[in-house]
Amino acid sequence: MKRIVVLGAGESGAGAAVLAKKEGFDVFVSDMSKINDKYKKVLDDHGIQWEEGHHTEELILNADEIIKSPGIPEKAPMIQKLMAQGTHIISEIEFAGRYTHSKMICITGSNGKTTTTSLIYHIFKAAGYDAGLAGNIGRSLALQVAEDPHEYYIIELSSFQLDNMYDFRANIAILLNITPDHLDRYDFKFENYAAAKMRITQNQTAEDSFIYWNDDPVIKEELKKYDIKAVACPFSELKEEGSIAYIEEGQYKLEFPTPFNMEQEELSLTGKHNIYNSLAAGLASNITGIKKEIIRKSLSDFPGVEHRLEKVCDVRGVHYVNDSKATNVDACWYALESMKTPVVLILGGKDKGNDYNEIKELVKQKCSGLVYLGADNAKLHANFDELGIPVRDTHSMKECVEACYEMARPGDTVLLSPCCASFDLFKNMEDRGEQFKTLVRSL
Ligand code: ADP
Repeated sequence: MKRIVVLGAGESGAGAAVLAKKEGFDVFVSDMSKINDKYKKVLDDHGIQWEEGHHTEELILNADEIIKSPGIPEKAPMIQKLMAQGTHIISEIEFAGRYTHSKMICITGSNGKTTTTSLIYHIFKAAGYDAGLAGNIGRSLALQVAEDPHEYYIIELSSFQLDNMYDFRANIAILLNITPDHLDRYDFKFENYAAAKMRITQNQTAEDSFIYWNDDPVIKEELKKYDIKAVACPFSELKEEGSIAYIEEGQYKLEFPTPFNMEQEELSLTGKHNIYNSLAAGLASNITGIKKEIIRKSLSDFPGVEHRLEKVCDVRGVHYVNDSKATNVDACWYALESMKTPVVLILGGKDKGNDYNEIKELVKQKCSGLVYLGADNAKLHANFDELGIPVRDTHSMKECVEACYEMARPGDTVLLSPCCASFDLFKNMEDRGEQFKTLVRSL
């Protein structure tokens, strides 16, 4: 019997283990950290052996195949040992893809994945399609394939998941953009990260569609390196050479396969970046054959996603916006770009190798105040103090919200769009966003 070892027992690992067991493999799960009780129960209920807090080498090194959770870096000693002895290492998505013939709609990019994935799911559900949400959001794809199969899967894929995908085929692949992120996991080489993103279109055939952002110089360069087999479906903000989806004279337009248009103003998501996300989502839905009226209605009534340019409330004429999900510089750029009022911007946290030059000009144009929020704010001081904008240095959300309250004038927007991961002071970006919202609401 083939032996499968699953490393990491979160949503994806536990799901992969259940599917592997169902498919008749000898399965063992090992997690260096403590396993969440919810997943322990899933494993126990399926009679799957597991360990936590350590890796027992002899139980892992004799695996025929490893399913690795995306959070475990390739540099981890156990992964290095497995690679050295030539053990095949795959992701949960790769594994699940072997056991389903359902249609796969896969979304990647440095920014906009969750928004676009959720928007597509919203449109598919409105159209009455049997669709499952998977990948970085929703439930494990493997678990759904094993126990609750759907005809379509809308899958958000990070570069880490794509790293360990080899034969998986996306019927519709969406590449939103490629900007520097997670470089610490790619030997600080941007080309390695870009190559991981391009894997979304590997294995696609002429029956498949590849939707990508035509204005992105990095994607344009990458495309030259590959022989893409899928039907190319480029989108751009304005009509560009070859683009089949764009904005023209205030109209949101899709040319292919079914001509479609609606007023740009009717799109529920605002901001330049969300035009791109709405174009990509509309194309995927149009290609699938969803009726125009449903696409139009769904693009205009989508409620948005929490922690992404989420309106919190107004306090004494100041708007508070939670964009805690902006964990890199590019995301913050788009958030700032969409702001129509002076901004008190909250920046800081755990930096993944940020180049702040990319937003300096916009910060200068739009910000009336800067509030640094991090365990160590030295890099922010070094980059932004010279702009001469009033600055406050804070080390907790409470201090930060108080500083914003003092700095902001009626008509301003306080924007939490911190360019950084949250792990220095918070559990995760959701915790950061929740704390922000709670404190703002109690002002
Ligand atoms: P992801 O899942 O890729 O992290 P999200 O949809 O969660 O993306 O959005 C993360 C942040 O990125 C948001 O806060 C938003 O400001 C910004 N963003 C969203 N869509 C785009 C896009 N298409 N291009 C650039 N930035 C974007």
